[in-house]
Formats: sequence, structure tokens, C-alpha cells
Amino acid sequence: MATEMGTRTESRRLQERAEGLFPGGVNSPVRAFRAVGGEPPFVARGQGAYLWDADGRRYIDCFGSWGPMILGHAHPAVVEAIARAARDSASFGASTAAEGDLAERVMAVYPGIERLRFVSSGTEATMSALRLARAATGRKRIVKFEGCYHGHADGLLVKAGSGVATLGIPGSAGVPEEIASLTLALPYNDLAAVEAAFAEYAGEIAAVILEPVVGNAGCILPGEGYLAGLRRVTAEQGALLIVDEVMTGFRLAPGGATELYGIDADLITLGKILGGGLPCGAFGGRRRWMDMLAPLGPVYQAGTLSGNPLAMAAGCATLDDLAARRETIYAQLEATTRAMAEGVAQAAREAGLAVTLNRLGSMWTWFFTSGPVTNYDQAARSDVSKFGAFHRGMLERGVWLPPSQFEAAFMSAAHGLAEVDAVVSAARAVFGQFSA
Ligand SMILES: *Cc1c(COP(=O)(O)O)cnc(C)c1O
Repeated sequence: MATEMGTRTESRRLQERAEGLFPGGVNSPVRAFRAVGGEPPFVARGQGAYLWDADGRRYIDCFGSWGPMILGHAHPAVVEAIARAARDSASFGASTAAEGDLAERVMAVYPGIERLRFVSSGTEATMSALRLARAATGRKRIVKFEGCYHGHADGLLVKAGSGVATLGIPGSAGVPEEIASLTLALPYNDLAAVEAAFAEYAGEIAAVILEPVVGNAGCILPGEGYLAGLRRVTAEQGALLIVDEVMTGFRLAPGGATELYGIDADLITLGKILGGGLPCGAFGGRRRWMDMLAPLGPVYQAGTLSGNPLAMAAGCATLDDLAARRETIYAQLEATTRAMAEGVAQAAREAGLAVTLNRLGSMWTWFFTSGPVTNYDQAARSDVSKFGAFHRGMLERGVWLPPSQFEAAFMSAAHGLAEVDAVVSAARAVFGQFSA
């Protein structure tokens, strides 16, 4: 099997070309596989649960474009919606009915979103939400949590999980200390730390932003009462609670973690599934805050491609399919993901490996540590070299996992029991080689 490495000649050729064009050969750092080693295949196409690389090799996709592809690749309704929209032109820079169509679909499952605005990425959504929170409160500081990633805006690249953790850079060069110092990074799942920060910086904290279920440090679940506690403390202290659902929105439930945990957020940020695979994000929430945006209010925020017709069409088609199948699709995702995640964890245990499985619905992580993993420090105890070997072994057996220990894996509705069995058998074979 391992000798097949040498057969990815076309991917290697494309990689060499890319290295002459893009820093590190990529347009987003985690794609370079630095954290796991091995050569990243170039993708030629996807269909359902599968990807094919430039050399014609097939993979079961377990990272779903980092979250968006909940319906699987090239879902016919999404493809048709994009094609239909494209025939009427890709962009106008003027309002279209499609923006209202997608906004109504979002608000139907997020009743706490009274007004929203579309942007083109999750990064833009969180960046804009924080600007709004600072304007709303007249305060400068923000609280985030170690291991949570909210996009690559300057003030948010502080202890920011996944890509940053993976590369071993504490924050990022190029972010002025003055800006980073306005961000307090606290341990996740530790309400006392939040209370202490509000005591120390009384009247200075504009907002608390978090991943309600963390995906960007690997999958980490909120402890009992944690989210409600954050809501209580922020309300008491006059700070906004920003729930970053870019990853979890529409995935954990139709209304994301907000619905699942009954969170009463001030602002919610969305992305990934929202655009059905096209560049799209949104932030929204209480009208009293959102109406502070230009042109109604003094907070500036804009975008040439915001509400792009193709992204709106792909988003509507995706949310329509999720809504049409809502009685079955989340149960199916839960069942297939549980079978796959627990099957691999069981195979690891049988091979004598210390693996901690964290999972909620269709997102999960196998941490190569005895655990538990409830915050970033505990996640960081994982044996990343073992994870790297696992990743390379799985890739050789046709299973594409997220290329970092600190990223959640994702299941799509196109994955069935055949894919579950194939992944579990591949893992059994890889773990078998570990002990051999
Ligand atoms: C992916 C992600 C972002 C950033 O979204 P981009 O579209 O990559 O800019 C922000 N927050 C969370 C929770 C994410 O998972």
C-alpha cells in the first residue's frame, strides 16, 4: 500500500507548480499538510461522500471542505441552483430577491436573528460583529477562548486554535501588540476565569465571542451550564454575547448550537454551510444592535460581493434540502457519525492506543491522548506524531481526514454505512501497522 505514494505523479507536478505561485504552495495554510506530513493530493472533483484526486485516486471525504458540504459534493439541487443563478449573471452589486430568500430561511431556524447582513466569509462575519459590539458598548476589550478560531482578523489571532496551533505560532507576526492586547484569551469551559476577567476589567469588555461547540481545537463540547453561565455573566456586565456558529450553524441542528442549547445570543455569526460551498458568511441578531450598521447607523460595514447571487442560490438550495429532510437528516447524520467515530475509537482501543473521542452530531475528533479533552491545554497533550501517522495511513487507504489533530472531522448526508465500514476497516489496518 505504502508504495502507492509514488503514484500521485499529477498531484506532485501540480504541487511543484503551486510552490512557484503561492507561499507554501497553498491559499490557506492547513492545506499544506505541515501538521501531518505527507504530500497533499490535488482534488479534481467530488461527488457525494467522495473526492477524486488529480491522479484518479478516490477518497472518502471526512472533512467536507472544513464544514460546508453537509449534503455531500455536487448535490444535484445545489448544482442546478448555482447554474440557474449564473445564467442570470454572477454579480450585480445591487439588491436581489435571492438575498431576502436566504435571509428568511436563516431567520426561520434562528428566531433570535431579527436582522442580518451577508458577507463573503466567516472572517468578515466575526470581524464585523465585534466592531458592532464595540460600537454598541463603547468598550474596547473582547474576550475569546483558547483554541477557538474566529477567522484571521488581527484581533482574533490570539490563541486561535487549528492552523495557528498546528504551526506552533502563538498568535501571528504582523499583529500589533496594541491590538492583540485588547483581546483576552481565557481557557474554554472555565466560567470562573470569565468572571475574574470581568472583575479585573470592569466596564471595559465589549463582548465575549466563542465557538459554542469548539471545532477548531478539535471537537470540544461545552460543559453543563457553561453557555448559560456566559449568557448570565455577559448580561450582568453589559457585554454582548457573540456566538460564532460559522462551523456549527445548520450542522448540529437546523438552528445550530443556538437551537440545541437554547442560547440567547446578542449576535450570531454564520458561514460555511450557509453558502452551500460558495463564499458566504453572515452576522445577525438583535435589531437594536444590527440597526447601528450603516446606512441606518454609524457602524460602517460593506462588501462588493456581499449577498452574491450564486452564493445565495447555493445557500437556499442547501437550507431547503436540510429543511425538507429535517425529520430524518439529523438523525441519519447522528447515526452514521456515531458508528464511524465509535468504530474507529474501538479499533484504536483494541490496538492498545490511547484515544479520546469527542463528538456531537456530525462533528468529531479522535484525540490521541487518554483525555479527557475539555479545553485547549488538554487537547494539546495529544500525540501529534501518532495522529500524523494515522492521517497518512488513512489517506493511503483512501480516507481523507482533516490534516491536523486540532480540527474537527465532518460527516455528510451522502455518507452511508458502506463508507462507515470502509473507514473503520481502514483504521483497523492502520492501527494494526502501528503495533506491528
Ligand atoms: C471557519 C471558521 C471561521 C472563519 O471562516 P472563513 O470563511 O474561513 O473566514 C470563523 N469561525 C469559525 C468558528 C470557523 O469555524
